[in-house]
Amino acid sequence: MEHIEKLAPFGLFDARMPRYTSYPTAPIFSPTTDEASQPVWLGALDPQVPVSVYVHIPFCERLCWFCACRTQGTTTLNPVARYLEVVEDELKILAKTLPAGIRMGRLHWGGGTPTTRCQR
Ligand code: SF4
Repeated sequence: MEHIEKLAPFGLFDARMPRYTSYPTAPIFSPTTDEASQPVWLGALDPQVPVSVYVHIPFCERLCWFCACRTQGTTTLNPVARYLEVVEDELKILAKTLPAGIRMGRLHWGGGTPTTRCQR
């Protein structure tokens, strides 16, 4: 509660905001959704509207008791480095799927980023 009082003056609780961790979000999926669905959906995005990108880092130095994110504990950056290679490959695939000229309006990093320190 003390944290809420400190953060409230910054307007963090003034509006209800969606929490997106996948695109499309889970309610959009149906029994007919398959691997061909995502490229179709992404390709149909309006190139005039900037997209928001969320990159989840599922590794944390310590696991928070309140966390509902997919994550696991780690004391080194080794799994993070391997994961980032996969993220880079995924971004290359996405770049081929998105409409030409589309721009990124927001980039949000989530997951263990704040607490993972380099201990190689
Ligand atoms: S740092 Fe973030 S992702 Fe990791 S356990 Fe805490 S709340 Fe969850």
